[in-house]
Amino acid sequence: MQGVGFRPWAVRQALQLGLGGFAGNDRTGLVIEIEGEQQALEAFGRRLRSAPPPLAIVVDVEVVTIEPTGSPGFAIKASAPGEGPAVAVPADVATCDACFAEIRDPAARRFRYPFTNCTNCGPRYTIIRSLPYDRAATTMAGFPLCGDCAREYADPADRRFHAEPIACPACGPTLTWEGHGQQGEAALTEAVACLVGGGVVAVKGVGGYHLAVLGDDDDAVGRLRLRKARDDKPFAVMAASLADAEDLVVLDADARAALVSSRRPIVIAPRRRGVAIAGGVAPGLPDLGVLLPYSPLHHLLLEGVGHPLVLTSGNRAQEPIACDVVGSRRQLAGLADGFLHHDRPIEVRCDDAIIRAVGGRVQVVRRSRGFAPEPIRLPVKGSTKVLAVGAELKNTVAIAAGGTAVTSHHLGDIEHPAAYAAFEQAIVQLQALTGVEPEIVAHDLHPEYLSTKWAVDSDRPTIGVQHHHAHVASCLVDHGRSAPVLGIAFDGLGFGSDGTLWGGELLVADLHGFRRVGHLRPVPLPGGAAAIHEPWRMALAWVALAVGQEAAEALGPSLDHRWQAVLSLAASPTTQHTTSGGRLFDAVAALAGLRHTTTYEGQAAAELEAAARSVLDDRHGRQAQADWVGDPPLSSAWVLDPSPLVADALAGRLAGQPAGAIAAAFHEGLGAGLSVAALALARREGVDAIALTGGVFQNAVLTSIVAEAVRAAGLEVLVHRHVPCNDGGISIGQAAIAVATSGRSVPGW
Ligand code: ZN
Ligand code: ZN
Ligand code: FE
Repeated sequence: MQGVGFRPWAVRQALQLGLGGFAGNDRTGLVIEIEGEQQALEAFGRRLRSAPPPLAIVVDVEVVTIEPTGSPGFAIKASAPGEGPAVAVPADVATCDACFAEIRDPAARRFRYPFTNCTNCGPRYTIIRSLPYDRAATTMAGFPLCGDCAREYADPADRRFHAEPIACPACGPTLTWEGHGQQGEAALTEAVACLVGGGVVAVKGVGGYHLAVLGDDDDAVGRLRLRKARDDKPFAVMAASLADAEDLVVLDADARAALVSSRRPIVIAPRRRGVAIAGGVAPGLPDLGVLLPYSPLHHLLLEGVGHPLVLTSGNRAQEPIACDVVGSRRQLAGLADGFLHHDRPIEVRCDDAIIRAVGGRVQVVRRSRGFAPEPIRLPVKGSTKVLAVGAELKNTVAIAAGGTAVTSHHLGDIEHPAAYAAFEQAIVQLQALTGVEPEIVAHDLHPEYLSTKWAVDSDRPTIGVQHHHAHVASCLVDHGRSAPVLGIAFDGLGFGSDGTLWGGELLVADLHGFRRVGHLRPVPLPGGAAAIHEPWRMALAWVALAVGQEAAEALGPSLDHRWQAVLSLAASPTTQHTTSGGRLFDAVAALAGLRHTTTYEGQAAAELEAAARSVLDDRHGRQAQADWVGDPPLSSAWVLDPSPLVADALAGRLAGQPAGAIAAAFHEGLGAGLSVAALALARREGVDAIALTGGVFQNAVLTSIVAEAVRAAGLEVLVHRHVPCNDGGISIGQAAIAVATSGRSVPGW
C-alpha cells in the first residue's frame, strides 16, 4: 500500500537504529532494503510488525537476505515507474488530530489554513493521476513547495516528511468566493455569512461540491429541497464534534468508531427525540445521517456558523456531483446562493460513504470516499484478470486480479449521460491505477442495462452473471467464505436466468454457480416501471392475487383514481410478473396507508420498517406465524406465497389498525416464514450457513428476525458488513464469480 507513510517511517527507524539502505515506491508497491548490525536489523523487523505507521496495516512480512552494499545512511529513493502487478491505491484520509490542533493554534504557520495535511492524513484517491504515488503524479503537482514546506518534506523528524499533498498558506491551494472573488479568510467569511443568513452555499470539498445549509433552519432546508427538486430523500448533517453528533443520534460503540474513523463516512443512526434539526432533513424517518468534519475547511465552516450543517451532494438529480468550477456553475446555478471554490483539482470525484448503524448492526451501504479504492480480498484464487461493470442503480465497477479486487467509488444511477460518462471514466481510471488489463468483462444478465451494453460492446470476452447470484457472491466475499450457502436475496428487481424479473430469491450458491431453490410467488407488475414509483399499484396487484378481484375493486378507489386501469393491467396476460421482495414491501406500505407514491428508491420500504420499529422497539416476545410458507417440496423450487400476509395487512387497514401494527405484523410474519423456508432448504441442500443479501436486507428489523431464527437453529448467518448488500455490491460479486469460474459461463447446478 502506498500513501500510508511507510517511506518516511522507514527512514526514521533506520536513523534511530543506525541502519543503511533505502525505501522506495515502484509499481509493485513499497520496497525497503536495509543493512547494518544483526540486532538492529531484528529490531527494525519487530517495529515493522508491531508499530507500523498509523495508517498502515501489516498483513505479512517477508524477509529476503541480500549482499550488503556498504552504502552509508538511509534514503528515500526516487520512485521508478515500471511494469508489474497491481499496487494498492490509498483511499482519502480525514484530517488527523495533530493537523486539526495545528489549524486551531494561532502561533502555527498553518493557523486556519483549509488545506492542511500531513503524512498521516489528507486526500489520496481523489488527487492521484497515476502511480507511483508521488506529488508529481497528483493534482498538487501545480503547487511548487515553498522553502518552509520543502524543509518539512525533507526532514525525517517532521510530521510532514514526504507528505505528498503538503501545502501551506504560502504555497498551497486557496479558497475563492465567487462574486467579488474574495480569497482565503475573506472568502470564508462570505460563505459563513451566507450560511448564517439562511443561504445555500456550494462548497468545494475533497471529492466534489456539497450544497450546504444550516441544519436547524427549516426555511433554508425547505429552499434546498425545493431547488434540488428533492422531495423527501434524507439529507445528512455534519456536526462539529462527536459530542455534538451524539446530541443528534444514538450511537453504540461500533457506530461511534465508524463515525470518528479516518474514513469519516455518513453514519445513519436512530435520531434522538426533539433534537434541533429541521423537520425537512429526513422526513418520515426515525433515523438521521450524521458525519464529522473530514477536512480543515469543514471545521472552519462549522466553527464559523456554530450550528450543524446539512451537507448534500452538489449535483442535479441523476447527474454526478460537480467537481470543478465550470461544472459547479453549470449544475448548481440557481441552486446555490454562493460558491466557495478552491483551486486544488479533483482527479476522481467521490461522494461520501454511508454506513447504516441501526438495530445493533453496522453495515456499509455506500462504499465511496474513505473506502475506495481499498482492495478487498477474494475468497478464491485465480489468475484471470476481470473487469466487472456492476448493475445500473447505485453502480460501482470492480477490477479483480490475483485474489484481490478493487472497487470504484459510488457511481450511482448510470442512466443519465453525464453519469454514464463518469462510469466510463471510472473504468479507465481503475485500469490505470491498478495497472490491470482485464481479460474478461463480467456483467449483469439484464440486456437493457447500460453496463451490460458497454460490456457487450467492449470487444473483450464477457461473462454474464445473474443478478441475485452476484448479490450472494458479494456476501460470501464480505465473509471470506467460498463454501456453498443458502442465500436469501431480496431486492427491487433483477433479471432472472429465465428472462423474468426476480427479486425474492432463495438460492443455493457458491462462487462457481447457483440453483434457484425457492422464490416468492410471481405477481403482476402493472405498468412496469410505473409500478416501481407507485406502490399503490403493487398493493392492488397483490390484493387481487391474494384476496380476490372483489376485494381489490373495493380497495381501488381509496388508493388512486386510475385503479380500474391498473386492475385490468394486473389481469392482462401480457403484463410482466415479478417475484420481487422489494415490491412486496411497497404493496404493504401502501396498504398500511404509509405511502402511495415514492420520490426516491426504497422510500416505501424504509418507511414501513420505521413504522414497524415504532411498535417492535417497545415489545418483547414474538408470536409471528410462519405457517404461510407451507411445506417444502421434495426437490423442486419452493414457491413462497405471502398472500396470507397481504390479506392480514388488508384486514388491518379495513379494521383501522395503525400503520405501525400492520408493519410490525408483516415484518414478523415475513421474517418467520423466510427463516423456516431457508432453514428447511439449507437442511435439504446440506449447507450450514444462510446469507442475507439484496437491498431489502438494509432493513434492520427483517434482518434481526431472520438472523435470530437462523442462529437459534444452530446455523451460521452471514449478514453484510463491509460490502453493500444493495446493488453497490454487485460488481464485487460479479468479479468474484468471474475469477472463480475463470470466465467460463456460470453453470446452473
Ligand atoms: Zn495530519
Ligand atoms: Zn508552503
Ligand atoms: Fe439488486
